[in-house]
Amino acid sequence: MANNKDNKPKNGLKIQSILYILLFIGFGYILLKDDGSELTGEATYTEFKEYMEKGYVSNLVVYSNMGAMDMYIKPDSARYVFGDRAVAQPMVKPMLNVGVGSLDNLQEFIDSLEQTGQFTGEVEYRKRSHTFTDILVSVFPFVLIIAFWIILSRRMGGGAGGGGGVFSVGKSKAKVYEKGQADRVTFKDVAGQAEAKTEVEEIVEFLKNPKKYTDLGGKIPKGALLVGPPGTGKTLLAKAVAGEADVPFFSLSGSDFVEMFVGVGASRVRDLFRQAKEKAPCIIFIDEIDAVGRARGKNPAMGGNDERENTLNQLLTEMDGFGTNSGVIILAATNRVDILDKALLRAGRFDRQIHLDLPDLNERKAVFGVHLRNIKLSKNVDVDLLARQTPGFSGADIANVCNEAALIAARHNKKAVDKDDFLAAVDRIVGGLEKKTKVLTADEKRTIALHEAGHATLSWFLEYANPLIKVTIVPRGRALGAAWYLPEERQITTKEQMLDEMCATLGGRAAEELFTGHISTGAMNDLERVTKQAYGMIAYAGMSDKLANLCYYSSTDEYAFQKPYSDKTAETIDSEVKALIAQQYERGKKLLLEHEEGHHQLAQLLIEREVIMAEDVERIFGKRPWASRSEEILEEDKPAAESTPVTENHDHVEP
Ligand code: ADP
Ligand code: ZN
Repeated sequence: MANNKDNKPKNGLKIQSILYILLFIGFGYILLKDDGSELTGEATYTEFKEYMEKGYVSNLVVYSNMGAMDMYIKPDSARYVFGDRAVAQPMVKPMLNVGVGSLDNLQEFIDSLEQTGQFTGEVEYRKRSHTFTDILVSVFPFVLIIAFWIILSRRMGGGAGGGGGVFSVGKSKAKVYEKGQADRVTFKDVAGQAEAKTEVEEIVEFLKNPKKYTDLGGKIPKGALLVGPPGTGKTLLAKAVAGEADVPFFSLSGSDFVEMFVGVGASRVRDLFRQAKEKAPCIIFIDEIDAVGRARGKNPAMGGNDERENTLNQLLTEMDGFGTNSGVIILAATNRVDILDKALLRAGRFDRQIHLDLPDLNERKAVFGVHLRNIKLSKNVDVDLLARQTPGFSGADIANVCNEAALIAARHNKKAVDKDDFLAAVDRIVGGLEKKTKVLTADEKRTIALHEAGHATLSWFLEYANPLIKVTIVPRGRALGAAWYLPEERQITTKEQMLDEMCATLGGRAAEELFTGHISTGAMNDLERVTKQAYGMIAYAGMSDKLANLCYYSSTDEYAFQKPYSDKTAETIDSEVKALIAQQYERGKKLLLEHEEGHHQLAQLLIEREVIMAEDVERIFGKRPWASRSEEILEEDKPAAESTPVTENHDHVEP
């Protein structure tokens, strides 16, 4: 009885052997539980996306209440997925289990593939009911994990945490691209997106030559957020950064972190950073970061999603924990910065945002250029025409067109892909996109061009309006057009400045009324801003004659339930607001008529080119009568102008 000490390891051994037996039973059970499927396994969300895109997947069964799905692989594709295993052991229903982080993202992804025809299989949504066997299946891993955890904690110095060992749930599922690959992606493969490329160039520089920066005590951002609609090349750009710098690239999706087991996400994050630090300098790329990075605890009553929050907290801790100069740079992609937790965007984390937009005409031409490189073209293919035919297409859509065209040509046993194949491919893909993205009719395009040209013309001729930088009619998000201005940095604003701004903002609607004969909902956003501004001028800033020098705003009362003025004053405010706006609207129309010819030229140029810069406006109207800063913008090179705060004026936001 004295050798109590020796008992411990023995006990441990016993537990261990019991555990292995349990494991055996467990695996046997998992293999048997899906009738007929002899090949099973797990896949990451990233792999899932890849297999879907390559057309390997026959159908999906999504367990919406379990955060998981079964991905059935087409028998003839099984060998790409399972390799030799599939050849050695022909199977009936090859299937892989995939964790699903966000059902919305999944749904969106499936939709997009269905629309382009890349995925035609069935998607079945099931709620897994908790029958006895299901309970067994779901409890079983927990029992194992607990047992395993006991062993771990018994081991001396086993404080590494996480899963590891027998079960690799806690391991990061990142896909690693090693350095020095011959076919690596470089900036050559990313067409357009010039601004984004300039932004990431510094990161490449740092990865290539960290000493140059560290010697000077410089700090490079730890992370940058690539923001933009799906298919604009965010993943591609991140890969290109790694490729240019020739460093390893870890790629995974935000959903890969999220799993139904508690604590797994956090431990995967730890594991990922550990691996990355070993391979530094390197790049970590997290796609769809919103799957983990959504704002925390918005709805405490619902209990929140603790697992996701833990994962996010771990990510934040890791980002704070490694030094700025450790050589690991994290790039993350999202379509929605607005829903991200603010903590992620703080200094020292993802403090840089790099925006990627849908390509304009010239950029689309460039994207076609990249994707036509490997396609055998017949002589009658006109890239210019193709770019014109595809407004609103993303880079991924264009890549799809090229692929689809090649498939169509092959189907007709042609020697080379010709113009008709491309047009057929465009049609097919437009058909898919129409439901989701905006594809503009020629008429709509004209209206939007007239509208935006209205803003541009007025801001050119109004002394105090913010100088224009560029105008576009490329749809972005929910806006169909936009104008960028360089706002003056001023602490106080005079009445004249406010009036000029209002007038320029009303220019879109005014141009529509004058030159199309109709007014549209496209100006709603403009009107909202103008109305707010007018109320501010009159009720708060005391800028009207009838209510001169009166301010009905209280900076002390946060909860003013009552209006601090009489009903009669309320009426006066309303009528003054109306009069003010009407006055500026008339002023705008008059000015537009004076410069009608130039306005039309501008609109025409917009229809042709989709994007015009301040230089183009100057070519049409001559130098801005109010010299000053607009010239500085023209003289400075572009990036400098872009780094100053630029206001965006979105138009045509759908009601
Ligand atoms: P995102 O990550 O923004 O959803 P991806 O980087 O995955 O988009 O883009 C998908 C595919 O679309 C790329 O693999 C590439 O073939 C094509 N693509 C997208 N943008 C571009 C671009 N600017 N230049 C060339 N190809 C592009
Ligand atoms: Zn407008």
